[in-house]
Amino acid sequence: MRFARLVVPDLLLEELIGHARSLVPGECCGLLAGHITHEVATVSERFPITNDAASATRYATNPRDMLLAFRSMRAHGLELLAIYHSHPTSAPVPSRYDLEANTYGETVVHLIVGLAGAGPEVRAWWLGETGYREAALEVAQI
Ligand SMILES: [Zn+2]
Repeated sequence: MRFARLVVPDLLLEELIGHARSLVPGECCGLLAGHITHEVATVSERFPITNDAASATRYATNPRDMLLAFRSMRAHGLELLAIYHSHPTSAPVPSRYDLEANTYGETVVHLIVGLAGAGPEVRAWWLGETGYREAALEVAQI
């Protein structure tokens, strides 16, 4: 755990959910970047990433998109805080594949948008090698 709480602006979260909905039945993916102050990570930028897997049950971040996103983060002095993706037909809880595919350890939060219910459900997680636990997520008007 690199920080205690992830704060996401409400408008940015709406755009993120819009991204997830636009790719149904496939999964979306992307990065959230910002700053960490006193254990609070505040998101200020969202970087949509092409899902090279074009799948309903997993995602593979496009290397070119990732390169451009990290270049922009460096240029603007932003830190990678979270990786997001969607679960079009299941709850926003990490899958076994999510755990296996996580190459970031516990340095970033994994935000998952679940679209299986009546409305979108967003939850945040710290992924370990064999398990996961919920991360503190705050949606704020910023
Ligand atoms: Zn997943």
